[in-house]
Amino acid sequence: MNYILEVNNLNVSFNEKKVLNNISIGFNKNKITAIIGPSGCGKSTLLKTFNAMIYENNEAKIKGDIFFNGENLSKYNIERVREKIGMVFQNPIPFPLSIYKNMEYALKYYGKKKKKRKEIITKKLKVTGLYEEIKDSLNKSALKLSGGQQQRLCIARSLTIEPDILLLDEPCSALDVKNIDNIENMLLKLKKDYTIIIVTHNLSQAKRIADETLFMLDGKIIEYDKTDNIFNNPKDEKTKEYISGAFG
Ligand code: ADP
Ligand code: MG
Repeated sequence: MNYILEVNNLNVSFNEKKVLNNISIGFNKNKITAIIGPSGCGKSTLLKTFNAMIYENNEAKIKGDIFFNGENLSKYNIERVREKIGMVFQNPIPFPLSIYKNMEYALKYYGKKKKKRKEIITKKLKVTGLYEEIKDSLNKSALKLSGGQQQRLCIARSLTIEPDILLLDEPCSALDVKNIDNIENMLLKLKKDYTIIIVTHNLSQAKRIADETLFMLDGKIIEYDKTDNIFNNPKDEKTKEYISGAFG
């Protein structure tokens, strides 16, 4: 099996405290994988290690290998890693600029011409379902958008540089049902073109959108399987406990 992202014996410690413990896993291309597990189990750390938001320094020690399309990520510089593997956080805040300028930001940095920038911006706003809602106010401040629209804008913005993998860390935790529904529908469409890894504390969300689900506890992978198996036929007692506890 050729995984788009493969992790071998990954260990991460902060100030000698082990946070990720021997993680080995492969992520399939054009799938949505949900990462679930209690607060503090290492979900965000795992995600951030994938795109070098966490890297080896005085406090953080990282052991193990991460392969992107079979190539060791340690060969890439950080900028290139983040070009290929984009990340959106829980409460992303648009730049205090117009909607259009938010979308244009990275494209300008990468030297794309004006006409090309416009073409990409329209395309990415369309794919995130925002275009129809905001096409007449592209010059308005992005900070005037609703929370759900801001979240979709940040996702659209992260797509302008065409990453292969999109990492999302609890992207819906501050949103209401309607906006959650928008984002979930968007992700289901996006998986045709991107590989999506999403941390969520909302188990129903994992059930609704994820092809595969990874359950973590205390920095370890407890179980990783098709979402249906994790929720309807978990093999590990700890998974069973977590799933049933969370569903009451
Ligand atoms: P989750 O996202 O599952 O809630 P995290 O990955 O954020 O968990 O955190 C896992 C553990 O690592 C926690 O105990 C947290 O306090 C610790 N941790 C996370 N980031 C850092 C950091 N930069 N420095 C020190 N400890 C950290
Ligand atoms: Mg977290």
